Amino acid sequence: MPDDVALTELPPSLWAATAPPPPETTALEGETRADLCVVGAGFTGLSAALHAAEGGASVVVLEAGAIGWGASGRNNGQVIPTLSRMDPDEIARRFGDKGEAFVGLIRDSAALVFDLIRAHGIEAEAVQNGWLQPAHRPSRMALVESRVRQWGGRGAPVDLLDRAAMAALAGSEHWHGGWINRSGGRINPLAFARGLAAAAMRAGALVFTHAPAVSLMREGAAWVVRTPRGRVVADRVILATNAHSDDLWPGLRREMVPVASYQMATVPLSDNVRRTILPEGQALSDTRGDLHFFRFDAHGRLVTGGALVSGRNWRARIAARIGRRVAAVYPQLGVPRFDHVWWGYLAMTADRAPHVHELAQGVTTWIGCNGRGVALGVAIGRELARQALGTPWQRLPLLREPLRPIPAYGFARALAPLAVLERRWRDRRD
Ligand SMILES: Cc1cc2nc3c(=O)[nH]c(=O)nc-3n(C[C@H](O)[C@H](O)[C@H](O)COP(=O)(O)OP(=O)(O)OC[C@H]3O[C@@H](n4cnc5c(N)ncnc54)[C@H](O)[C@@H]3O)c2cc1C
Repeated sequence: MPDDVALTELPPSLWAATAPPPPETTALEGETRADLCVVGAGFTGLSAALHAAEGGASVVVLEAGAIGWGASGRNNGQVIPTLSRMDPDEIARRFGDKGEAFVGLIRDSAALVFDLIRAHGIEAEAVQNGWLQPAHRPSRMALVESRVRQWGGRGAPVDLLDRAAMAALAGSEHWHGGWINRSGGRINPLAFARGLAAAAMRAGALVFTHAPAVSLMREGAAWVVRTPRGRVVADRVILATNAHSDDLWPGLRREMVPVASYQMATVPLSDNVRRTILPEGQALSDTRGDLHFFRFDAHGRLVTGGALVSGRNWRARIAARIGRRVAAVYPQLGVPRFDHVWWGYLAMTADRAPHVHELAQGVTTWIGCNGRGVALGVAIGRELARQALGTPWQRLPLLREPLRPIPAYGFARALAPLAVLERRWRDRRD
């Protein structure tokens, strides 16, 4: 965690400067009754709220900050229908038919995001023209080929790209080939979160902001969620707090380590330079562990970022590090000027996989995006809504498991920032 910034003081992002305004919301006062109470107004919570409200449930959303205040409003906006580490064959091997069903959910997750954007007329700078994953070493082409085989064999719209094809799409000779998943793309993530909230509200959900849930308790057959000035009595609760999970549910936050990811945007580029970088406008994240990732926003800014071991003096250090990286990958641009630099938390689990839980009867959650949660959060949010509406777990494409707090949590959390050193070492030797 950056040690010079408190959790509540996350810096504003590019998206906060460019997204349409949020729908009007207030803090909760007094008591409200609902079929479903959703805690957290990021992609997971808002998708759950929208789908539950569309399914006929009365829904209340409680958000500690503003809509999209967490990772959902401050990420890179790459809509990626894969997990960060585990591939389909491994998921199927470990979890059988249930695993295949979950792979299907991941495969279709990017399409779900763009379908929702179209269906609800959300202004989110959405571009669905594919997600690129280039290989940073020739040896990584074996992994790329395996991913194309695994996803292609399961009906995903993927293609292998040789070195020349990738260079043409990336606008750089930096990589050795790669693959494209054509259902992926890019969005303005805060605009999407705000649009999802507005859609959920139109469907009947009540969204309260600056309304932190401070306790969650059973009262008879219902659950009672308290905020500083109100309470919600609900039959069911979805905890959609992910990297921002606190002690609302004992042990939940100890299942993941929140890791800072730094983001930055260049000033808008001239058309001449702009046309030479990602000329067809795809989003790109490569095969490195210390990911190199790039995309454009709607105003011609290159939006990128990276990781730091320590958060000290983060703004200057990340700008210098990523400035050098941009110049190496895109020499035609040189070291750019960044006019927005920010960061947010992503939730890393010990096995780098997402975890879905039924914490008690009527209380569900998922945690651990491990850096890939834009599409996945929306898809899992919809499935948790279906569960809340009465679909039995057996019919859901979710891998439900018991809560597994990380052993020696304090130690693991203290050491987590050092993992980036190991990833950089692996990237070099791979
Ligand atoms: C910098 C960064 C870049 C990323 N880039 C990408 C990317 O390009 N592509 C991709 O697929 N994924 C990316 N991710 C991951 C992705 O953003 C997340 O997985 C996703 O947004 C998680 O959504 P969520 O709704 O589950 O959680 P969040 O959006 O974090 O929402 C959780 C919400 O819960 C609220 N909350 C917590 N506790 C309480 C409480 N007690 N009461 C009320 N509210 C509470 C928080 O305020 C927060 O708003 C990135 C993440 C970060 C941080």
